[in-house]
Amino acid sequence: MKICVTIAEKSLESAIEMARNVLSKSPDVIEIRFDMMDALPKDLEGFKDIRVAKIATVRLARQGGKFSGTDHERLEFFRKAIRSGFNIIDIESDSKILDKLAPIAEEIKIICSTHDFESTPSTSSIIETLIRNSSKADIAKAAFMVNSIRDLHAIFEAADGFRETGNDFVIIGMGELGILTRILSKKLGCAFTYASAEKGREIAPGQLDIDSLRFLGDAPIITGITGYPLSHTISPLLHNTAFKALHIPGIYLRFPAKANELEDFVNLIIDVDIRGINVTIPHKTEIMAFLDKLDESADCTGAVNTIANENGVLTGYNTDLHGVESTFEVNNIDPHGKSALVLGAGGAARACCTFLLRKGAEVYLINRSQERAMQLVDDLGGDINLIRLDDVRRHKFEIIVNCTPLGMKGFPDEDLIDPEIFSKDQFVFDVIYNPPKTRFLSEAEARGAKIASGLEMLISQAEKAFEIWTGRSPPRDVMLKSAMEALK
Ligand code: NAP
Repeated sequence: MKICVTIAEKSLESAIEMARNVLSKSPDVIEIRFDMMDALPKDLEGFKDIRVAKIATVRLARQGGKFSGTDHERLEFFRKAIRSGFNIIDIESDSKILDKLAPIAEEIKIICSTHDFESTPSTSSIIETLIRNSSKADIAKAAFMVNSIRDLHAIFEAADGFRETGNDFVIIGMGELGILTRILSKKLGCAFTYASAEKGREIAPGQLDIDSLRFLGDAPIITGITGYPLSHTISPLLHNTAFKALHIPGIYLRFPAKANELEDFVNLIIDVDIRGINVTIPHKTEIMAFLDKLDESADCTGAVNTIANENGVLTGYNTDLHGVESTFEVNNIDPHGKSALVLGAGGAARACCTFLLRKGAEVYLINRSQERAMQLVDDLGGDINLIRLDDVRRHKFEIIVNCTPLGMKGFPDEDLIDPEIFSKDQFVFDVIYNPPKTRFLSEAEARGAKIASGLEMLISQAEKAFEIWTGRSPPRDVMLKSAMEALK
């Protein structure tokens, strides 16, 4: 992968200093964003001894830059930049000075670029844009804001289509969902990809720094999480910390997808060879229809939270089951012969019920929708007692587990159940880990119950998923430390 480091400093002096410093990281190209300076500099001699391919860019405000001067000023500035050793000029596709640059630019290359900070058009429109830009310059550049899985697909498809022309191009998906296009720029066929000189100096949404891109290399292990919404998840932090600690070139990204995008997302997993995916609320059961095989853990729970992609064959696992088991183990709770109430009937509830039934507990279940609860009971063998919220006080439970998102960051924080049901000698487990202590747990603790948050479950299910994808055991203590810091 070739990397162009973009330098966007306010002053000429700091841009030159940063350009000199970044040479130690061996960028293939550097880009100086002169429009970000307070004024276009008069003297560019300081760049002459910076021996690497250099792009001069003076981006207009309507294309995401800050320059508001005249075409004449820009043209004169580019002449000066070329005299000072800049060998690539970036100019917007609709600029009037594009034609005027060609005669003065015989020795240099021109990038003809298009930016859309709002959306990504269809595959065919992207290809048309690249063809148009390519006809006017040496390198066609197009950058689009990626708002959906479909947008991401369109960029990969368009790159596949345009690559056949043999012309140089750079295509970028902006935003969090577009990160994949930056990491896989070589696979896309891009001449190079853009990066910041260091973390915190990124200039475009979703841009990474050069060290992170070099760490990943040309064939990184790509993993991530899908669900909707994904604002609560700290799984990216856990897995990215593990990749770094083990020096494995890999990354874990967020892929927010709504139910009607799941099929597109599964196609993306195969098309771009995503090694592994975690599946979270609300897709843990729906995703199963798109998989080729189920591991025993997914088969017995009827829910998938982990997908492994081996050469296009997708296998579903349920590592939540391992997470539930581990939570009971570290809290020294043996559910055998105990009466246990599970709230919810989604993926997490399936893992909890499976574990509790296997251990010989007497399982009771409450769910908002009866239909989903009955489906769970049917799928797990029927040995579960469905009860109603009104009947809860008639029973005495030794174990209570919340498997709904009520109380989770971004969801309503209301009482799920009459708190008077909590008492001492009870084990109360909330699968939610963010926040670390939900209202549900605080109410239980106040009444003397032993409590556990979803943190142990989170770490254990992540460990297992990481092992499935990489064959390596992640460092649990490092993962736990990063999780605790993030949840402070
Ligand atoms: P899911 O499959 O979508 O199931 C959600 C369940 O919660 C459903 O039974 C749903 O009832 C119920 N529910 C949703 N909103 C509700 C509300 N406002 N009032 C009452 N019930 C409501 O989700 P999931 O994957 O099981 O996840 C559930 C929670 O567990 C999430 O907070 C998730 O982050 C957490 N989780 C944590 C871990 C961990 O490692 N700690 C692992 C897995 C899950 P209906 O059937 O009526 O819709």
